[in-house]
Amino acid sequence: MSADIDCIVVGAGVVGLAIARALALAGREVMVVEAAEGIGTGTSARNSEVIHAGIYYPAGSLKARLCVQGRHLLYDYCAEHGVGHKRLGKLIVATSAEEIPALTDIMNKARINGVDDMELLTGSQAQALEPALSCVAALLSPSTGIIDSHGLMLSFQGDAENAGAQCVFHTPLLTGTVRPEGGFDLEFGGADAMTLSCNVLVNASGLHAPTLARKIKGIPESSIPQEYLCKGSYFTLQGRVPFTHLIYPTPHHAGLGVHLTLDLGGQAKFGPDVEWIDRVDYDIDPRRCDGFYEAVRTYWPGMQDGTLSPGYTGIRPKISGPHEPAADFMIAGPGTHGITGLVNLFGIESPGLTSSLAIAQETLLHLSFN
Ligand SMILES: Cc1cc2nc3c(=O)[nH]c(=O)nc-3n(C[C@H](O)[C@H](O)[C@H](O)COP(=O)(O)OP(=O)(O)OC[C@H]3O[C@@H](n4cnc5c(N)ncnc54)[C@H](O)[C@@H]3O)c2cc1C
Repeated sequence: MSADIDCIVVGAGVVGLAIARALALAGREVMVVEAAEGIGTGTSARNSEVIHAGIYYPAGSLKARLCVQGRHLLYDYCAEHGVGHKRLGKLIVATSAEEIPALTDIMNKARINGVDDMELLTGSQAQALEPALSCVAALLSPSTGIIDSHGLMLSFQGDAENAGAQCVFHTPLLTGTVRPEGGFDLEFGGADAMTLSCNVLVNASGLHAPTLARKIKGIPESSIPQEYLCKGSYFTLQGRVPFTHLIYPTPHHAGLGVHLTLDLGGQAKFGPDVEWIDRVDYDIDPRRCDGFYEAVRTYWPGMQDGTLSPGYTGIRPKISGPHEPAADFMIAGPGTHGITGLVNLFGIESPGLTSSLAIAQETLLHLSFN
């Protein structure tokens, strides 16, 4: 059957753009359709901008594999394409002797994931790196870094367009149908509502990717997970921060703890915290930082009261609920739903930015061409 366009990628976030780039470089005709006015206005613009090493994810998970692969690909890509980044390194700190075994566990887990450059430091070794830090031991992850995520997306868009792809904005995909003979008929809204057919459809629409998949007739319901939204709020530190590494407390079951990240301009922020919500709402509640001061002083006793101001929020596209174990990335290709030419990307939360180039490679494998 003939189609209007060979490949349609829905969503111009970092993942959709990485996939569009890979498809275009593989010689395919590609259109990226985006509901918003430009690239990277969703989760890709509302995250920590950390290049994760791949430390905490369960062994054998897609998150573990694609984070480690993606991190290597990303550092090379940034160096070759002039995308802003810094390999700052990260310290995970134990503030009491009871937390030290947890650091050893993290190091062992990281090694299984292929992160083999972590170093266990004594308190004084850690303080030699970061004099303002208070801790009894720390794990140094030298491969953790930070990146200019918008610069990365612009670069992906540029590569994709140079290879012939086109990006169209203000064009939400509304509904669609899987054609019995292969391919997809799709209906788009926006000022210039239109219908288009394609051979390959990649749903990289982020927060509501499961809801969008349900609107395409012919995709089995059993292949689509339930979606959940989990907000994270960031608070920025006024004034100079005395750290040059990212600083994380030892994680407890509730999450990674109130950690400090830096951006490329040297601005420090704390967060993101964890708040399960029912609808997309990026407002920030200034009271959410009330507990931050006490938590941060466990590892930075010099933190002054009143130095945090509301920064921004992001929303994690979850496919597991608050009382369930964290789900893995779900890259649902024909092996999951039986439809040739379709890949749905579900639950692409952190480390999706770090993994973006590896997710693109994996998506092309699901489509059986690369
Ligand atoms: C608080 C937080 C912190 C994070 N920190 C990190 C980090 O430090 N490091 C890291 O590696 N990862 C991090 N992540 C994860 C990372 O940000 C995401 O994995 C990544 O941005 C997901 O990109 P995406 O392209 O899948 O989604 P998005 O960026 O959300 O893009 C999806 C796009 O699809 C568009 N869209 C939606 N519906 C439609 C439709 N019907 N038609 C057309 N377009 C549509 C949207 O407008 C949007 O532009 C973090 C995430 C959060 C929430």
